[in-house]
This record gives sequence, C-alpha cells and structure tokens, in this order.
Amino acid sequence: MIKYSVDQNVAIISWEMTSTPMNVLNDESIPQFEAALQQAFTDDSVKGIIITSAKPEFVAGADLKMILRNNDKEPAQMLKVSSELNRVFRRIETSGKPTVAAINGTALGGGYEICLACHYRVVLNNPKTLIGLVEVTIGLLPGAGGTQRLPRMIGIQAALPLILEGKKVGVQEAKKLGMVDDIADSPAEMLAKAHAWIAANPNPLKPWDEIDRKTGKIVGKDNFKVPGGNVQSIVGVQTFSAGTAMLMDKTKGNYPAPLEIMACVYEGLQVNIDRALAIEARHFVKVATSKVARNLIQTMFLGMNEANKGASRPKDIPKTDVKKLGILGAGMMGAGIAYVAAQAGIEVILKDVSVEAAEKGKDYSRSLLKKGVERGKIDPLKVDGILNLIQPSANVQDLQGCDLIIEAVFENRDLKAQVTKEAEPMLVATNNPAGGVFGSNTSTLPISGLAQASANPANFIGIHFFSPVDKMMLVEIIMTKQTSDYALAVAIDFTRKIRKTPIVVNDSRGFYTSRCFGTYSSEGMELLKDGVNPILIENGGKDAGMPVGPLAVTDEVSLDLVYKIAGQGIKDGFLSEDDTSYQIAKQFVNLGRSGKKAKAGFYDYPEGEPKQIWSGLTDLFPLADQQPSLDEVKTRLLYRQVIEAVRCFEENVVRTKLDADLGSILAWGFPAYTGGALSFVDFVGIDTFIKTCDRLAEQYGERFRPTAKLRERAEQQELV
Ligand code: NAD
Repeated sequence: MIKYSVDQNVAIISWEMTSTPMNVLNDESIPQFEAALQQAFTDDSVKGIIITSAKPEFVAGADLKMILRNNDKEPAQMLKVSSELNRVFRRIETSGKPTVAAINGTALGGGYEICLACHYRVVLNNPKTLIGLVEVTIGLLPGAGGTQRLPRMIGIQAALPLILEGKKVGVQEAKKLGMVDDIADSPAEMLAKAHAWIAANPNPLKPWDEIDRKTGKIVGKDNFKVPGGNVQSIVGVQTFSAGTAMLMDKTKGNYPAPLEIMACVYEGLQVNIDRALAIEARHFVKVATSKVARNLIQTMFLGMNEANKGASRPKDIPKTDVKKLGILGAGMMGAGIAYVAAQAGIEVILKDVSVEAAEKGKDYSRSLLKKGVERGKIDPLKVDGILNLIQPSANVQDLQGCDLIIEAVFENRDLKAQVTKEAEPMLVATNNPAGGVFGSNTSTLPISGLAQASANPANFIGIHFFSPVDKMMLVEIIMTKQTSDYALAVAIDFTRKIRKTPIVVNDSRGFYTSRCFGTYSSEGMELLKDGVNPILIENGGKDAGMPVGPLAVTDEVSLDLVYKIAGQGIKDGFLSEDDTSYQIAKQFVNLGRSGKKAKAGFYDYPEGEPKQIWSGLTDLFPLADQQPSLDEVKTRLLYRQVIEAVRCFEENVVRTKLDADLGSILAWGFPAYTGGALSFVDFVGIDTFIKTCDRLAEQYGERFRPTAKLRERAEQQELV
C-alpha cells in the first residue's frame, strides 16, 4: 500500500506494501504510486513532494515475477510495462513541484530509478543500506530511466561501470559518487533536510531539461552537456570502444544485457531525455523477453531465494539452531569453516593434532578479518568478538556440548573413522532433543561408508563445502539411506545460519557436483586425445561460459587426484582401465607433471609469469589434420556435463531440478545464462538436445547417448 499525507504543505508519499515482503514495483503498486503523485500534482496547496518508505528498505526494485510473467509474451506487453513506468517517473521530473527522495533504506533497480527521477536525494545513514542499478545481474537493464539519468547526473565514465556490473554501494560511497546528494543521521533529520531543500527550490529543473518558450512546459534539452564529456568526446569515444571490447571478452556474447546497456547509453545520450527514454525502453524489451533473462531470474534470483528459504528442508521438523560447532582438522577447509561459522556468531572449537596446528587454522580467520577491515568490509570493533568465538584445541574433551561436529581431517577413511568414534560421544543435545549431528566434509569418500564408524548413523550426514569456503556460496548436503530428516534439518539450518546456499543430494560416487564437474575435465582430455589443438579446447570452455578452460582446471584439481579417483573407480568397477582420464592422468603423474601445485601439468607455470600451455603437449597428442569448429568444442564440453546432470537427476542422486541447476552454477561454474545444467535442456529445446546427443554419441562415443527417460519426456513434450 502507498500512503499519502500532507505535512507543512508538502505531500509525503510513503511506500508500505503489505502484499509483498518488500516494497516492489508491480501491477499493484505502480497505479497506486501514480495516483498518489497525481493527487500531489493537482493539489495547488501542495508545494513539494517527499517520497519515502515506512518499511526497512526504500524500494527493492521491480517485481521479478511480473517480469517473468511477461517474458515469453509479445514484446508489446513488456514495452507497456517499461513505458508506463517511464511516463510516471518523467512526470515527477516535469511536474514543476520539487520532489525529494528520502531514502530510508536499500534502493535497488527500479527503486533507485524512482530516486533518480526525483530532483534531490537524501539518504539515511545506515550500514545496511545498499544503492544501485542491479538489473544486469539478472540479465536485464535498468528500464525506467536508469541508463539515461545516472550518466547524465554523474558522467558516462562513472556511471557505466556501476550499471554494467550491477554494483550495489553503501551510503558513503553513493554520496562520494554523486548517486545521492546528502546524508542524514536520523529519520527526523532526513525529513527535515528534504523539507528544507523543497523550501529552497520551489521551481526545480533537471539540468537535462529546459522550459519550452511556446508552451511554458518542461521538455528535454537537445544539446545537454554530460558531465565529464559527451559520447562523442575523446573520453566518450575511448570509453565506448575499449568498453565494448572488454565486455565481449568477458561475456563472450553469452549475456546480451551488458552490450545492450552500452548501446542504450551510447544512443540515448546523443538525444534529448524523452527520446532517450524511448530508446532505453526498446533495449529493455529486447533483454527482458530473452531466454537468458528468464533463466537468470528463475534460477539465480527466484530459485536461489527458494533454496535459501530452505526449499529442501523437511517441513515437519521444528527449527534447529547450532550454537556450538566442533571442527576436526584445522587445515585449509577446517579453518575456512571456522571463519564463516564465527562470522555468524557460532562458538567454534577448532581441533587439530596439536594446539599449534589449531592456532594456525585460527590465523586464517585473523588474516581474513584484517583484510576485511582494511577494505572497509568489516567493522573493526567486531573483530575481537569474532575471534573470541574460535577456540583452538588439541583436546577432544573440549568438544563437549557441541550440537554439530564437522570433520575436515585428511581424506583417509581410517582416520575419518577414528576421529568420528573419538568425537561423537562429545555431542550433546543442548538445544536439540534428537541429539547432536556429525557431518563429514569429505570430497570423495561415500558418506554411507564413513557412517559405518558412527554409533548413530541417523545423525551422520555429508556437509560438503567448497574451497575457498569464505567465497564459495554453496554447501552440498549428502544424505545416506539412514540419515534422518532431523539431521538434514540441522544441516540446512546451519548452512542458512552461515549464509550459504544448501543443495541436498543422495550419497553416491562423487555425489552430484564432483561427478558432473569431473566430466568437464574428462571431456577436455578426450578432445586432447582426439588431436584437438589445446588452445582451441581451452577457448571452447571459456567461450561456452565456463570460468576456466578444462585443461587449466584439471591442473588446478591436480592430475594425481584425478588418477587416484579414477583408479578407485576402476577398483569399484565403475570405470574401465582404458578410460581416457585415467590413462592421461597416469601418464602425466609418471612424467612428474601432476598440475599447478607441481608447477607442471598441461600447462607450464614459469615463476612470475602467466601460465602457458606445455610445449610438449602436442608431441604427446599430435594435432589432427582437421580441427573442429569452436562451436563443436563448446557443444562437446557443455553437453557432456549436462547429460551427466540428467543422469544424476534420473538416478535420484540430485533430488530436485532447482538443486541440480543451482549446484551446477555455484559449485563448478556451469554458465548461469543457461539456467543451470538441467535447465540447459529446456534452454536449447529437448528435441534439439536429444538429436545433438545422438549425433555426438555416433561421432565420439556412448558417453553422450541420451537416456531413455529423456526420450520419453521429449515424446510427451515435457519439460525436464
Ligand atoms: P588439509 O590437509 O589442509 O587439512 C587437514 C587437517 O587435518 C590438517 O591440519 C591435519 O593436521 C588435521 N588432522 C589430521 N589428523 C587429525 C586428527 N586426528 N584430529 C584433528 N585434526 C587432524 O586438508 P583440507 O584440504 O582442509 O581437506 C580436509 C577434508 O576436506 C578432506 O576430507 C578433503 O577431501 C575435504 N575437502 C577438501 C576440499 C579442498 O578443496 N581442499 C574441498 C572440499 C572438501
């Protein structure tokens, strides 16, 4: 609901929506907002307008469900959404009444575009407040004037990176950049400043507007000078030519929105604001009706929210709360887990074989906190409090009273069994009636096997973090057949408490993420064996949207690990001896080229220089006379991962489509523009997917063959 009141001849329009958790621009709020503005415009006693909110945030942006509803409709429908908003916002600018945005909290996307349309912006000083045009992160562009007003206000060079990266900035930075005009220390001061500005500026005019002599109306100036230089200035030309090349390099053309933003700013800034807004609306429609925007909104925004709210959490278990966490092993992973847990206010016992080793693990938190303070990301007053929560120890008795223990000792089954037996009796049900939970952070050992060492396998679960723990957002939770719903609830509640995104999978070889990710590396080696130029292989991966080429990533994982895991697969009967990854990994380990840590793998790592493809690689794998196209390499690399994800889903290794998609993007960097490894099938179309898989299977091997279930779905035209 949008409330209207008048105070000292100034209309106060306050956003306080009750139908949605946050204030958003949607079919309900836009007409209400317009009606409130209309009331202010037409009441002669009203001398100015203040737009604010009674909720913690100002306005969080456009309702993405509304965008999604119109995504596959006629472009005209989407154009209507954008044009309506532009018309309303433009009226704020040209009504002749001074309008101030009193930004009481976070203003993102369309929310900040309201502020941009106002004549003045006062923001309440609050460390939680974030301001920015974030649309690009979900495949969109600011479609309510953002691409036109921000560069006109702060200059092209300052505005473009903010819009292209979808950057959210805090209050102080927003003021420094000129995104807001003033900061207030209290809500009362914010309103007082807004009133004072209105009183001092009875007839405000935006610098890009002028008064038409004939009609006396406010209209857009044709020759407006953009601060810092117009599009055709030297700075402007440099910004656009270098910027476009950089964008192409970064997005490989997979994400249309950044390039559309560039075009929008370039074209729009050469004409008056009214024509510019029409140009922006056209570009907006193009991206907002794209499949990429739909995929990003569905998986990365709505899907992620769902997962973070605990979509996979058993509903009938009351909320659990880990207060004391035990971590076994203060190495790379244990130290990282301790850091994120202490950050979330959890008491941590960090145990290793000696207090010195455990202290070393705590040092990791010290150094991350120091860096955070230096970068202004962490409040220096909070550092000691966080560090005090981590108690290094070598004594198992200190784990007494933990409600969750996570082991992150060496990847050794016997050692893991030993520490499980030792530590489990320390778990007590301080706040959980069903007792404490024991989690393993193993990356390769099946959880069911490790659970054999447990006295209480119902409370034994896999809690798989990714490295580096502080940066990687995903936690893969692994269930055995015996794991209880209660243990799952504890693991999910804990993951949420440390602000990570959980996915839930069933125990199996490589779980979900490692199994699918392995196929990327493995297909890279198949391509190598087929005589494909290694540079083409690496470019194929990156061009498809993977963060790193398949050979480089294999070097990072290390070929001895690939050799070890593949060897185990052969022992367990999952893999044949002539498996390409196994053979190549074995060959490289024997050559002493086990990857990045050995400074030699598929690449050479000369000291102080960028890595280069090893010159001996083409001696081992002579180049084929005929090289495939870049598209063919991309197809092989992506389809191989997707068909494995499909198998995992059908085998119930990964439980939901959302978990499969999110897991693929967050764990191993599967390209988000596709919507994720399972959504990929719908992205390209199930018929095309099957046809391509069949062709690849004929040409390169059965590993590409589509499953029978997939064919059934295609026949019924069912979405995956
Ligand atoms: P690491 O070698 O850095 O650390 C292991 C730590 O365990 C060492 O500090 C060691 O002293 C300690 N330790 C050994 N015996 C112990 C005992 N009895 N009690 C307490 N501590 C003991 O290893 P890491 O990379 O942190 O990996 C730990 C686990 O996490 C492994 O199971 C690994 O597979 C898994 N994992 C690793 C990664 C990764 O990227 N490194 C990712 C996910 C999962």
